Amino acid sequence: MVMERTLVLLKPDAVQRSLAGKIISRFEDSGLKIVAMKMVWCDEKQALNHYPLDEEWAKNVFEKTKKAYDKENKKMEYKDHIDLGKTIQSWLTTFLKEGPIVALVIEGPHSIELVRKMVGATEPRQAIPGTIRGDYASIESYSLADNKKRVLRNLIHASDTLENANKEIKVWFKDEEIHSYKKDIDKHF
Ligand code: UDP
Ligand code: MG
Repeated sequence: MVMERTLVLLKPDAVQRSLAGKIISRFEDSGLKIVAMKMVWCDEKQALNHYPLDEEWAKNVFEKTKKAYDKENKKMEYKDHIDLGKTIQSWLTTFLKEGPIVALVIEGPHSIELVRKMVGATEPRQAIPGTIRGDYASIESYSLADNKKRVLRNLIHASDTLENANKEIKVWFKDEEIHSYKKDIDKHF
């Protein structure tokens, strides 16, 4: 599908650091359309609905984390992907509940792929300059986060697949909170 909707969360660190406006501007500047937006201070239930312990996700996280550890010749303390997944999930819910977040639905051609590209790598240290994580959070790394037994404070969440985007949008927005409107650029799509 060419026209897509994706879910973006400006995590508590983005709001805390007063970066919400700057980050939202980047999406507006790209030509994508914001079709829903609100500030939410979520509870444990909503945080868990957003980050359910999905086996596939846990496997991906395990692989990504293992690669980063291997690069530094560090040994991982986790038994397997479920062990790591459970730990990250509990740190994640603590983080998401820390303060208000800004949730957005962003619409446009290939919006899932484009927003992920603008966000950059999960570990801000690896995120290239020009990406949101690379420009505003690059001092953040797995080693800092692991030492403090917390998740990466990487400013932003963006859906990674169409299936996840559809699920995640429902966690944060009712249908009537998502708006359809025309912009001049739409005539070219
Ligand atoms: N995360 C972390 N350490 C890890 C893996 C994940 O702190 O080893 C956190 C990080 O905040 C990340 C979130 O969990 O943004 C979700 O992980 P995912 O792999 O889905 O990364 P993303 O899609 O956000 O880049
Ligand atoms: Mg993800």
